[in-house]
Amino acid sequence: MHDSSLSGSALVPFVDFTAQHQPLQVQINQAIQDVIQRGDYVLGQALVEFEHAFAHACGSHYGIGVASGTDAIALGLQACGIGAGDEVILPANTFVATLIGVLRSGATPVLVDCDPRTALIDLMAAEKAITPRTRALIPVHLYGQMVSPRQLLDLASSYDLLIFEDAAQAHLAECDGQRAGSIGTAAAFSFYPSKNLGALGDGGMLVTREESVAQRMRSLRNYGATRKYFHTDYGTNSRLDTLQAAVLKTKLPHLYTWNCDRYRAAQYYDALLRPLHSLGIQPLENHCGAGHVYHLYVVRLTDACPLDRTALQNALTDLGIQTGIHYPIPCHLQPAFKHLGYEIGDFPHAEALSQAILSLPMFPGLSCEQIERVVAALQACLESAASACIEAQV
Ligand SMILES: *Cc1c(COP(=O)(O)O)cnc(C)c1O
Repeated sequence: MHDSSLSGSALVPFVDFTAQHQPLQVQINQAIQDVIQRGDYVLGQALVEFEHAFAHACGSHYGIGVASGTDAIALGLQACGIGAGDEVILPANTFVATLIGVLRSGATPVLVDCDPRTALIDLMAAEKAITPRTRALIPVHLYGQMVSPRQLLDLASSYDLLIFEDAAQAHLAECDGQRAGSIGTAAAFSFYPSKNLGALGDGGMLVTREESVAQRMRSLRNYGATRKYFHTDYGTNSRLDTLQAAVLKTKLPHLYTWNCDRYRAAQYYDALLRPLHSLGIQPLENHCGAGHVYHLYVVRLTDACPLDRTALQNALTDLGIQTGIHYPIPCHLQPAFKHLGYEIGDFPHAEALSQAILSLPMFPGLSCEQIERVVAALQACLESAASACIEAQV
């Protein structure tokens, strides 16, 4: 190899938390110590403060911290009054937790295909799936990009649907001047460690502007109790730990800067990848400009690509580049959801994307030099495969 950016064996990891946690080590330790000192481990002061700060950062009013993003969806739908007999529309290409949340609420999931350019829910397909029983639509702001708020709100008002946002990958994302978490009746967030705002473990939150939804959610996460030992709801135990909230509260003021750093990295990828379009690598489209918070940087292998995805991924691994696939099997083809009755061919765009996408390393602190190394490795793999193809033809 003559390319100097390929020499040196330093790995480019898929995610690296160092840039987030190292500069905050002292503050995070202090925040943890403070909780230990106060001893309010469950529903404590740091949780209340973080709920308030995060809901306001999202342009909403109430935040209710729960144990995970999945619980935020399942309990959040219930808190919105959605359950058995209601149909809820969601995209087929999302993380399975969106579907699990709908099923746990008791509602009937109705899956729809996506727009192949962005991988986001196809709102025309969603409109066609509306029936008299449709109560809600779940836009999943996938990979850090919001589903168009204008189109969402138009559709919701035309059919009197409730919007419930899955914003687990879209902390502080914006589009059309609106922020993720501020357009729906409620929105679910996850604080899984690798999310744009991550805890040191699991966590999630529902944000909402409606006091009645917030009240119901507070009860549902706390055994369905509206006051101590008085249970009005069939609830569960799902609270965001005070310790995790204290850590998240320490990290929150840096979230905007980290998102900007992700955006900067994405723009550099975009520029460096332009010459690779003819070799079969195409980034997904961004329709939100700087409002895209790039939870993931996803490219698509086109017909021009001389390698299949597995071969490309393996070749990159050999060159020290870690990649991911989000997600390799769309929800409707997962064995666990066979009973929903979907088949291969039902959602052709979601199915095609699941075979063709590749997520490149993306995290705050990803350096220009690392991005150059990723792209140089991609180019080397594609060019050597392309020349092998030409030789085979000769
Ligand atoms: C991470 C994620 C969830 C679930 O969040 P957990 O905290 O892992 O339960 C839901 N939806 C999407 C789109 C996600 O990425």
